[in-house]
Amino acid sequence: MVNLLLRRLIIFMLGACSGAETPLQDQLADKQSNSQRHSPFVLILGIAQDAGYPQANCEKEQCKKYWQGEEHARYVSSIALVDPSSQSVWLFDATPDFKHQLQMLKIQAPESSLTGIFLTHAHIGHYTGLMQLGHEVMSASDLAVYAMPKMTTFLQTNGPWSQLVNYGNISLQPLQADQFINLTSMLSVTPFLVPHRDEYSETVGYKIQYGGSSLLYIPDIDKWEKWDRLIENEINKVNFALLDGTFYDANELPGRNMSEIPHPFIQESLVRFNSLPLSEKKKIMFIHFNHTNPLILDSPEREYVEKLGYRVAKEGDKIQLTM
Ligand SMILES: [Zn+2]
Ligand SMILES: [Zn+2]
Repeated sequence: MVNLLLRRLIIFMLGACSGAETPLQDQLADKQSNSQRHSPFVLILGIAQDAGYPQANCEKEQCKKYWQGEEHARYVSSIALVDPSSQSVWLFDATPDFKHQLQMLKIQAPESSLTGIFLTHAHIGHYTGLMQLGHEVMSASDLAVYAMPKMTTFLQTNGPWSQLVNYGNISLQPLQADQFINLTSMLSVTPFLVPHRDEYSETVGYKIQYGGSSLLYIPDIDKWEKWDRLIENEINKVNFALLDGTFYDANELPGRNMSEIPHPFIQESLVRFNSLPLSEKKKIMFIHFNHTNPLILDSPEREYVEKLGYRVAKEGDKIQLTM
């Protein structure tokens, strides 16, 4: 009888112990996923060069796939920084595909709303989406638009952009190179100058920082060698690096002088980054593809680049920032 009672007591205690373990593990997992749910993330809203995919007047095989209904469009390069805890979204560049990208955000981050826009430069793929904020469309009120000094003057002194300023649709927020802007107590953004064809404005890339986690965004740069910083050092300092992948190689645009539109060719970047350890290559995600670049669609070249350890940006990709 005593034995039986003892055995029941042991079974009860074992049950209680194992019962207590599972909820604790669940709680920890819940806590982790809960903190992830509230951590900011970067959402890829577009991957194409300024002119998008397909490109106007394009009769190439690559574009025919779209005109014949075999491929869907690719939006112009843009990323969104979504912060669920403050229910805010900051866009990096306002592209000609702004309306579609805003709609993507409504689906992917329904509880957050557009809080501000950081501009990289005054080439058509990077700011002309601002027109959607104007009188004829959204009629926004004092939306924060962060811009460098020449970019600010360009918007203030040229129509139709000056109307956005004069009507109070946008509120220009001055940026200085290498000076960070605090978006929340944990989240900051720092612009830095990069060499590019600066006809109307300077060109910047951005570094997004959340606690110990950081991301580099450089959609346009002439050549890595022209920069006064070593790209490898900059990659080393961050967790993610979204880099200019406009052209695959030097033969991509027959009939165009490609030295007039310099970008680091994917092939050049692959050679340059070849000696980096795999852990560094994995940080790199190429973006801003010309319509002629095979990386813009599923292709053997895309598979090849991914096999080497790099990432190739796709619309809807989400990069989670963690403390
Ligand atoms: Zn561009
Ligand atoms: Zn550009």
